[in-house]
Amino acid sequence: MSTIGFIGLGNMGGPMAINLVKAGHKVLGFDLSDAAMAAHEAEGGEKAASVADLAAAADVIVTMLPAGKHVRQIYEGEGGILDNAKPGTLMIDSSTIDVDSARAVSAAAEARGMKMVDAPVSGGVAGAAGGTLTFMVGGSAEAFEAAKTYLDIMGKTIVHAGDAGTGQAAKICNNMILGISMIAVSEAFVLAEKLGLDKQKLFDISSTASGQCWSLTSYCPVPGPLPSSPANRDYQPGFAAAMMLKDLKLAQEAANSAGAATPLGAEAAALYSLFCNSGGEAQDFSGIVKFLRGTS
Ligand code: NAD
Repeated sequence: MSTIGFIGLGNMGGPMAINLVKAGHKVLGFDLSDAAMAAHEAEGGEKAASVADLAAAADVIVTMLPAGKHVRQIYEGEGGILDNAKPGTLMIDSSTIDVDSARAVSAAAEARGMKMVDAPVSGGVAGAAGGTLTFMVGGSAEAFEAAKTYLDIMGKTIVHAGDAGTGQAAKICNNMILGISMIAVSEAFVLAEKLGLDKQKLFDISSTASGQCWSLTSYCPVPGPLPSSPANRDYQPGFAAAMMLKDLKLAQEAANSAGAATPLGAEAAALYSLFCNSGGEAQDFSGIVKFLRGTS
């Protein structure tokens, strides 16, 4: 049994921390939200009074925070994790953040003799609750092996992507494919409607032809062909459009920083931005089909 410090007990972090409690670990939680702290305690977790107290007591620290600025502050800021953790502490940041911040924090942790991985997830709130998340992990082989013991409790698929930052890189590259392909599939359905081609026929043909992709066959953006997709529940998420926009913006930041040409990624970010600004941010990201239909 380890003492695990868990910072960021929100929609994802809350249930992830509880899975560590259920596996028999002592989990010291910390969050700015009193409600999140109370929920953690109600499920058998313990409260830490501060980040500093948590860091000093923990063998392993997991963070699940909104964005890179929060992660940098919690690790590198005054009274933060790096100033207070014991040498050799294992650190796992599962937040989805920019690659540059992930690499900077990891380098700072290693410079102080600690092990760190970036380990963003896919699988959403249901995956967090069910312990079935996919973790994309960046860090040394040694840090990955150490982290895997804990990631196995919170997830089903744990992939070592490479050195520090490559977990975040994998997450944003995958979600850039997803955002672009969802727009492509949605445009095809809107065009089919205009051309008098039945949506079920398009689905049947393209799902076994060269247009086949996950956005079509596992997450079809129009109601009917695939009863499990959010389109059949009035686009309740699922994976919210605001989250997709966040990931597409991170991909663009990374592309600019690395000098990679990603013109369709840039266009996808612009379209999701328009969709979110027109009231779609809380809807499932496949609702972009309604936005495209509306602008036709
Ligand atoms: P959330 O907003 O529900 O939770 C974030 C928590 O962090 C909140 O409880 C907030 O109070 C806490 N927090 C913020 N700043 C803090 C600080 N300085 N100290 C302590 N606590 C602080 O967000 P979420 O949905 O749990 O997402 C967390 C991360 O996981 C994000 O990076 C997100 O992109 C990523 N993610 C989310 C999903 C999803 O479906 N929700 C899926 C994959 C990845």
